[in-house]
Amino acid sequence: MAILGPIDRIKPLKEGSFFCPKCNDQTEYRAKEVRRWFSLMNLPLLPLTSPEGVVECTICNGTYEMNVLDAKLNEDEQAFLENFEKAILNAMLLLMISDGHIDDTEVQTVIEVYAKLTDKKLSREETLAQAEHVLAAGHTLNDYLLSIADVLNQDGKQLIIRSMSLVAAADGKMEDAERNTIVECAQIIGLARTTALQILDNPS
Ligand SMILES: [Zn+2]
Repeated sequence: MAILGPIDRIKPLKEGSFFCPKCNDQTEYRAKEVRRWFSLMNLPLLPLTSPEGVVECTICNGTYEMNVLDAKLNEDEQAFLENFEKAILNAMLLLMISDGHIDDTEVQTVIEVYAKLTDKKLSREETLAQAEHVLAAGHTLNDYLLSIADVLNQDGKQLIIRSMSLVAAADGKMEDAERNTIVECAQIIGLARTTALQILDNPS
């Protein structure tokens, strides 16, 4: 080691699991803060850089900037999430229009439930436009539910039925037609009828 020269001082920050882009998998990481100092006999005299956070994968030793920890989802998961969000939205919209008219409280409930689930705030206009879109495209609830039924776990299935039930109950009364639609949807995605009925009776 040089008597006079730069050294890196390393401070451990935290550990956990993250999605490593190189491993393309969920792995364990070590995060540390690195700062380069000008030093004399290993004694830091003068900071040469500002502290920099580094995330290191414990499997492949790849290093990344700290913001890699924010990217929790890989492309497949991202695609699934978008698909799932779309399915929930369209399921609610198709239910909303299934009784032949669009009620303002229903629109409001769709917006509220969607915002709660996805952190995305739709305007009234966007919501109505999307409802028109799914109607014009001739989409049915079955299309959407079938496309995601296989990959949904129990929580996901219950979330779909709960979202639909909230919309159905939004105008103060749950009509038989709405109730039947929801029970049918539960069947399509493979949710037990008794569970669906429990959610229907107490959706909030
Ligand atoms: Zn890795």
